[in-house]
Amino acid sequence: MLSKIIDIDSARQNIDMKVKLLSLNKRTIKNDRGETVYYYGIIGDETGTVPFTAWVFPPAVRVGDVIEIRSCYSNLYNGKIRIYIDGRSEIILKPDSDIEVKRTSDLVKIRDVSLSMPYVSVIGKITGVRKKEYENDGATKSVYQGYIEDETARIRISSFGKQIQENEVVRIDNARVTQFNGYMGLSIGDSSRIETVTANIPEKPRHVFISEIRSPVGGITITGFVVSVGQGSRIFTKCSVCRRIVEDGKCKDHPSAPVYPDIFGYFSLSDGTGTLTCYINSDSFLPYAGITQDQFRRDAYSMNPNMVIRKNLLGKCISVSGDLRIQDDKMTLNAQSIRAISQEDNREIGNIIEEEFQ
Ligand SMILES: [Zn+2]
Repeated sequence: MLSKIIDIDSARQNIDMKVKLLSLNKRTIKNDRGETVYYYGIIGDETGTVPFTAWVFPPAVRVGDVIEIRSCYSNLYNGKIRIYIDGRSEIILKPDSDIEVKRTSDLVKIRDVSLSMPYVSVIGKITGVRKKEYENDGATKSVYQGYIEDETARIRISSFGKQIQENEVVRIDNARVTQFNGYMGLSIGDSSRIETVTANIPEKPRHVFISEIRSPVGGITITGFVVSVGQGSRIFTKCSVCRRIVEDGKCKDHPSAPVYPDIFGYFSLSDGTGTLTCYINSDSFLPYAGITQDQFRRDAYSMNPNMVIRKNLLGKCISVSGDLRIQDDKMTLNAQSIRAISQEDNREIGNIIEEEFQ
């Protein structure tokens, strides 16, 4: 007998179900014994949606396909039900069927938005709005891109058709969770709802511990010690119009545009709960290091970036603010600003670090 998602509320064996594949991701884990590949995503039926993990998955099945899964099992993972598909399970493609999936969207804090939920509701302030136009079936359509932020994090949003206003505090229901280019995002489409609400979004640093990080959200701050500095730092030349890296001193698309130097560097930050690789550029590094833009433009090509970064950062206790990003299955942080801190600045984090490094 086929089970419905709503009825799977505990750990069970030998489940058969007919579902629509809503998302599919592949992950490779490397360990001593070599590489293991597994798949994860979301499946849904008329009663709801549920995340799954699969150790085998037929390559012919695509997102949007209806499948029958036989002999899978369910278990609790992070307090939520998850479906597991292993070597004993069978996946059968049902090309002639369709399922109207019931969307369930929980109200979550922005820091908790992750690919384990296909749709979410959030409350936050809209910032950085830009309108773009694109052609679709011969018609000109609008997409509004920007960010939504609450007291826990900030993520990108794209709204197709529905206008979003700078600095407006809104509740968005049924936003689709996306991950593009390693960054978490929300997509607002026909079935999403936006309404203006009254809520206070405090403007203060959103501190997180490295061990608390679950998904690549943005606008967060981590305080810790710089435990190592990458030796692959480089000085680049960039075009002042398109901001891309240029070769031979001028941009192919904007040959007459001025160019400017930028720095690329990275370091490992440890806060006592974990370690994270942080990337820096001249915008985040120079103000912290007390180097002016003029000084940098003059000296960039004669400086040793590895030495300058090492001297300013190694062993220092700092607060780094920026956006998390998943790259090659690894969480990293793109720093937007760096601040030197004294232990009084953040006693709680300071205490943890002291315990770890005594
Ligand atoms: Zn250019």
